[in-house]
Amino acid sequence: MLTIDGLKEALRNAQSEIEANKDTLTDLDRAIGDGDHGINMSRGFEAVASVLDDDYDSLGALSKKVGMTLMAKVGGAAGPLYGSAFVKAATAFGEAKEADFTLVKSALEEGAAAIKARGKSEVGQKTMVDVWEPFLNELNDADDYAAKLDQLVQDTEDMKATKGRASYFGDNSRGTIDPGAMSSAIVLKAIMKEVG
Ligand code: ADP
Ligand code: MG
Repeated sequence: MLTIDGLKEALRNAQSEIEANKDTLTDLDRAIGDGDHGINMSRGFEAVASVLDDDYDSLGALSKKVGMTLMAKVGGAAGPLYGSAFVKAATAFGEAKEADFTLVKSALEEGAAAIKARGKSEVGQKTMVDVWEPFLNELNDADDYAAKLDQLVQDTEDMKATKGRASYFGDNSRGTIDPGAMSSAIVLKAIMKEVG
């Protein structure tokens, strides 16, 4: 079960993991982008952490606040993408105070759909969609979530980017893991850990 406190804990854990991986995320984005993804995510999740001490009466209210905060505080492509994911997930969580595996999965599926709609992106373009979509497609509650997420991140390395800033690198985008795929795995791992 994912409770309101559990989602808060997940977001705090995501923030510390992003902080621990800030330089790696930035290095990846320096190779196939503009080198700001670690900084963007760090700024965004710091802002998220600052709203976690407030009281929320539902998972929907918390998820919506997180999404709005990310939209407001994260520059670049990733902010509106993650922001719209949490805002859209909020509609699936609704008034619920806790969510079982099935509801969490639906909420994350809404999140993935929002990323694709906002980014006009599909699987196979070497973006965060290549983590969100296949992860949710294959997800069942007996999975080793962390191992699956690590594999999906690794799988972006050989892909050629056809969306976002990395697409300007053409074939030279091959050989580097997509930074948004890596940050997505951090966020999704943190959430799945709290579902139990
Ligand atoms: P920017 O590209 O504006 O500098 P960031 O560096 O913060 O923004 O984020 C880059 C990440 O955003 C990429 O690694 C990729 O995963 C994701 N991304 C970029 N454009 C799109 C898109 N159109 N659809 C889905 N994800 C995208
Ligand atoms: Mg960037």
